Amino acid sequence: MKTLLLLLILIPLIYTLNLNSDAEKKARELLSKMTLEEKLEMVKGHGTQPYVGMTPENKRLNIPPLNMEDGPQGVADGVHFSTCWPSALTVVSTWDVNLMYKWAAAMAQEQFKKGTNVMLGPMVNIARVPHGGRNFESFGEDPVLASAMVGPYVKGVQSQNVIANVKHFVNNNQEIDRNTVSANVDDRTQWEVYYPAFQAAIDAGVGSVMCSYNKINTTWACENEKTLGDLKNKLNLRGWVMSDWGATHSTVKAANAGLDQEMPDDKYFGKPLVEAINKGEVTKERLDDMVYRMLLPMQEIGLFDNRPTGNLSVDTRSQEHSELARILSESSHILLKNDNRFLPLNDSYQSIAVIGYAAHDKLTIAGGGSGHVIPESTVSPLDGIKKKFTSSNVQYANGNDLQSAVYLAKTSQVAIVVVEVGSSEGDDRRDLKLPNNQDTLVFAICSAQPNCVVVLHVVGSVVMPWIKLAKSVITATMPGQQAGEALANILYGDVNPSGRLPITYTQNEKDIPVNSQKQWPGVDLQSDYSEQLLVGYRWYDTNKKDPLFAFGHGLSYSDFQYINFKTERNGDNLKLKVDIKNLSPRDGHEVVQIYLGFPKDVNEPVQQLKGFVKVFVKAGETVHVEHELTPRDFSIWDVVNQKYSVVLGQYNIRIGSSSRDVRVAKAIKY
Ligand code: BGC
Repeated sequence: MKTLLLLLILIPLIYTLNLNSDAEKKARELLSKMTLEEKLEMVKGHGTQPYVGMTPENKRLNIPPLNMEDGPQGVADGVHFSTCWPSALTVVSTWDVNLMYKWAAAMAQEQFKKGTNVMLGPMVNIARVPHGGRNFESFGEDPVLASAMVGPYVKGVQSQNVIANVKHFVNNNQEIDRNTVSANVDDRTQWEVYYPAFQAAIDAGVGSVMCSYNKINTTWACENEKTLGDLKNKLNLRGWVMSDWGATHSTVKAANAGLDQEMPDDKYFGKPLVEAINKGEVTKERLDDMVYRMLLPMQEIGLFDNRPTGNLSVDTRSQEHSELARILSESSHILLKNDNRFLPLNDSYQSIAVIGYAAHDKLTIAGGGSGHVIPESTVSPLDGIKKKFTSSNVQYANGNDLQSAVYLAKTSQVAIVVVEVGSSEGDDRRDLKLPNNQDTLVFAICSAQPNCVVVLHVVGSVVMPWIKLAKSVITATMPGQQAGEALANILYGDVNPSGRLPITYTQNEKDIPVNSQKQWPGVDLQSDYSEQLLVGYRWYDTNKKDPLFAFGHGLSYSDFQYINFKTERNGDNLKLKVDIKNLSPRDGHEVVQIYLGFPKDVNEPVQQLKGFVKVFVKAGETVHVEHELTPRDFSIWDVVNQKYSVVLGQYNIRIGSSSRDVRVAKAIKY
């Protein structure tokens, strides 16, 4: 029996080691056959047509081309005929690692069909600034949530013989002045807040990393010895580092700091690199290292055996993918407010008013910039609601004529107002308000019709001055092409909402962690990360500020009770056990969130997410949930010894339905 067990453990291990060493061997062999010119061809960009980034095929040695395309949420950047998925921030709102994997694999399938074998995503810059123009592409404000979700993303993409590219390393947390600003961050904050999601992507085997446009502590990210050194020597990246498009600023400095490939052109890694090598300013060994770092993931991820044959005009949409897009959107709708359990609506309402241009005339279902996916087969909220509520009279007013919209709301039994705010790469939102007088619209509609449901298609936090008037509020974030179907299923009650906020929604513009100009957008192009570890909810909790909707918040049509909370030591780990009982007559998902409060003297935020489990609980049933905290969860970054070190002492463990909805808690000694 014991021998069998040992074999069961050893065989996969030996197999994995073999696979790795096989890929390593092949990469080394290939490298040894390459001429200097061939190596130089690989480390520079070759323009942006037809793919946004390219290195050509090496016919002599049969090395496949690298065809790169945006990512991170579909085949993006001006490419037609692909599925317009919900954005990453939206899918992260599912808190569902299995769905994340499925999504990533499906996106990569489409990339591959279009001839792409490097997908420029995931984008894991922490949503430090609520206004951040690219937050919709991100994995939210919390490093633990982002880390848990990015691993499945990377594995999903790379399961399709497509190399993932985790970006933008690092501290590209704002778009204003992104090409010139210096993000000034201390080492502990870097390790505890901004590096973990990159670490998780590397641990999941990501093949490449993109260094960012900004400077970090006054040195450009793509020539920053410190951060690129950390990436390769401490986070242990085995793959290669490419520059963001035009983010290379030097030849010798960048090459020696750790940049492996200039994108998308050859200004610095073309002729100037040849000269630098001839002069011995960049060694041939360093060039070999750059190329090896590219060949290795190409071998490991199967690019040699699976050469893309498609091109960007292939239509990659399918029924299967549009169904997955709907499921992703349904699972990421977050029910923020639901007074007196007003939702779901079902058939009892004879007349429904759907209001707002965002419900039909001008949809905002995807963010802008290089990650923009062109929506071509969209179901609008109005279409979705009409299709679902067949026995109700559904009427629409886009709100341009306020009076007639108010009249429609008043004369209907329920009003559903859809509002939007978009954002795009290249700029941050200047405020957190809804544009185009939509606040006025919501005020007017919800004042006229008390049965008022507000649906948000938004790229992140927005302020809601009308919140008291709305009976129910749902955020769909950036819901993608199946927006309307997903919304209708939630409104009707066919789907029980289970999304949770991956960011904090603030009450007002002032109460945010980056509330001085020095922090954001910076003064004299210096952006000081003086809030340090107090990013997102950590700041609200530590400063005793109430957010509008807390990190992790999201209601369900079911009610869950947390019972039998127990902790149990398991070696150095701490096992947490809790039972989740569904008290309602409706099946539903609960997201069990685990927060840890450190001993007081170590200067950590009052609580931090350390894990979560999304469980499905049938009506009236109870499900047992377990989660183990590891020594790493009880550690902080030790700047002197440059490692995570365990803090011993008194901890508070809080388990609940959001960062503010704690259901069971315990003080423990670790
Ligand atoms: C963006 C990257 C993107 C690249 C290629 C840059 O402007 O910052 O995220 O991958 O363009 O489109």
